[in-house]
Amino acid sequence: MALIVQKFGGTSVKDRSRIFNVARIVMNTRNAGNDVVVVVSAQGDTTDDLIAKAAEITSDPSHREMDMLLATGEQISIALLTMALQELGVSAISLTGWQAGFNTDRAYSKARIKRLDTERVESELARNRVVVVAGFQGLNRSDDITTLGRGGSDTSAVALAAALHADRCQIFTDVEGVYTADPRKIPKATKLKEITFDEMLELASLGAQVLNNRSVELAKKYNVELEVISSINPVPGTIVKEEANVEGMLIKGVAKDNDVAVISIKNVPDVPGMSFKVFSLLAQKNINVDIILQSSGSEGNKDLSFTVPLGDAEAAVSALKGAASRFGGGEISVDKNSAKVSIVGAGMQSHSGVASTMFEALFNQNINIKMISTSEIKISVIIDEQDADKAVAAIHDAFIN
Ligand code: ADP
Ligand code: ASP
Ligand code: MG
Repeated sequence: MALIVQKFGGTSVKDRSRIFNVARIVMNTRNAGNDVVVVVSAQGDTTDDLIAKAAEITSDPSHREMDMLLATGEQISIALLTMALQELGVSAISLTGWQAGFNTDRAYSKARIKRLDTERVESELARNRVVVVAGFQGLNRSDDITTLGRGGSDTSAVALAAALHADRCQIFTDVEGVYTADPRKIPKATKLKEITFDEMLELASLGAQVLNNRSVELAKKYNVELEVISSINPVPGTIVKEEANVEGMLIKGVAKDNDVAVISIKNVPDVPGMSFKVFSLLAQKNINVDIILQSSGSEGNKDLSFTVPLGDAEAAVSALKGAASRFGGGEISVDKNSAKVSIVGAGMQSHSGVASTMFEALFNQNINIKMISTSEIKISVIIDEQDADKAVAAIHDAFIN
């Protein structure tokens, strides 16, 4: 008998018929002689709807209360799916994140899992029950509800698979696997049979929503092979694992991220410690900085630009303005109309000309590049948000079709 963790995203449980569809997938897995732990997300757009409800009350909700609110979405799904399983004659029980033993740090809305106590899940499995766990949620040391960040149910599933030493971890979603680009935007995108943890981690971090990046981080750390498959079409999906068959592909995918704000500080003094002062200030505020660009100094001054998530832009600007005297002034501005477009592929390490092919594709579309960042397996550019879809299509054409 194998132990299988199956995760179903919001679209896969959006209504009665999808819930019964999921219940049948779980029942078939169970009837094939497996133990099954199921992780579910909130139904359809529930999480977005809850965020909108909070916005009707206040523009600046307390993070603690936001997590209290958002965690309710997953609680609805676990109860309904468990009822559907019971209706089909499958013995099942639902557990919230805290009942399932998810202990997190204190960072509301982006909490990290600190410890996972699996006794309750294991004892329910021992009673021959399918265990249906609410994704995306946990409890911090003060027994307050936390959530793991958008898309966090993937992380809940991988954490359970790792802690329970599951034989398989299946991520069911609304597309048939991981594609060379978002298949809803790029119809020519092709499904990948396999992809490495490292490539998937880059793609996920760079905006390919299909897997949450922390879930991939965790899968790599505990070597949990992931199978990304459709909950609607029972066809082979994509395997995410340590070593993948490259099939001669230089580039595994093109990703786009609109969640980018570019902050610029013009004319800061060109002296030692400047970058330290700026970025330590942002680190204190728990703001993640991504691409950094520094101009070469002239007349004793230089310019500094960097990107942060859109949601952190205002906090970053006000922190910088509040402490401007510490780094000698400078003109602070923010641009919220940028996007990051990236290519990812381990194959590019050993090939020259990858960057120039990417830049040529952008040039052919007359798209201006504002910032560039590279690593061994990815190249990212910051461009105008309005050009982003066109850029993804052009780059995808240049490398993949
Ligand atoms: P779930 O609710 O199942 O967690 P998500 O909406 O979080 O699903 O992620 C699935 C979506 O990710 C797809 O519908 C697709 O539009 C999008 N996506 C973006 N990039 C990719 C990619 N490279 N491959 C597959 N899907 C992608
Ligand atoms: N419901 C949460 C979200 O929409 C978590 C998830 O779907 O994984 O982000
Ligand atoms: Mg998701």
